[in-house]
Amino acid sequence: MAISADADDGVPSAPLATGVATQTVHNELRRLILEGKLAPGAELSQLELSRQLNVSRTPLREALRLLEREGLVVSGGPHRLVTVSALSMTDLDSLYSMRTMLESLCIWLTVPALRDDDFARMEEDLRGTHLKDPQLSQEAHRRFHAVLRVGAEGRLSEQAERLFEHAERYQLAYTRRDVTLLDVKHKEHEAILEACRQRDREQARDLIVDHVADTAMVLMTSERHAPFVLPTAVKMAKAAG
Ligand SMILES: [Zn+2]
Repeated sequence: MAISADADDGVPSAPLATGVATQTVHNELRRLILEGKLAPGAELSQLELSRQLNVSRTPLREALRLLEREGLVVSGGPHRLVTVSALSMTDLDSLYSMRTMLESLCIWLTVPALRDDDFARMEEDLRGTHLKDPQLSQEAHRRFHAVLRVGAEGRLSEQAERLFEHAERYQLAYTRRDVTLLDVKHKEHEAILEACRQRDREQARDLIVDHVADTAMVLMTSERHAPFVLPTAVKMAKAAG
């Protein structure tokens, strides 16, 4: 990334300014895509975006390149049109199979490392997932799962976190706020917490594998996608997990 500073006088050089702008634009566009405010398949006009976000074309192009590398936008065609990545069953299958494997590794590494204050945080986050406000509930859910990765090193936990965020895009698009499903998920979270508290890493791993893989199944068999597509990669990952 083009971030640099003048070492002699500490005055930021132009590339630093561009780098900061790129990061800001990247964060903002990423948030809009993950929250579904920029819809899957939506065409992005660089001219319009640079106006709306009040940035020049260079940091915008760089931010779009980062989003493309992350798989959130695609570009192509004679006019290098940039669109928000569409959601698809095959992408959902590979995304959730990767999540199943990585979250299982993360929890395996994390269970022995958890401390009393981690359990307290998880309990509080679980209470948070019951909140009526969907955004607060989603944030608490995110924090709960983040604790389950604290024992995993950077690359592994970062990748798992990124996949978690991408998976939220599917949850947002494919599920309604279903009370029965929420209840099932709450019970699964409680069982995961209990296994962690017992330091039973095998049980914790089995539970997180089911938690993730079963969500994929729910998403793939939601009414909107009949006839159902069976998640083949997820099934493999679940068996391996
Ligand atoms: Zn969960």
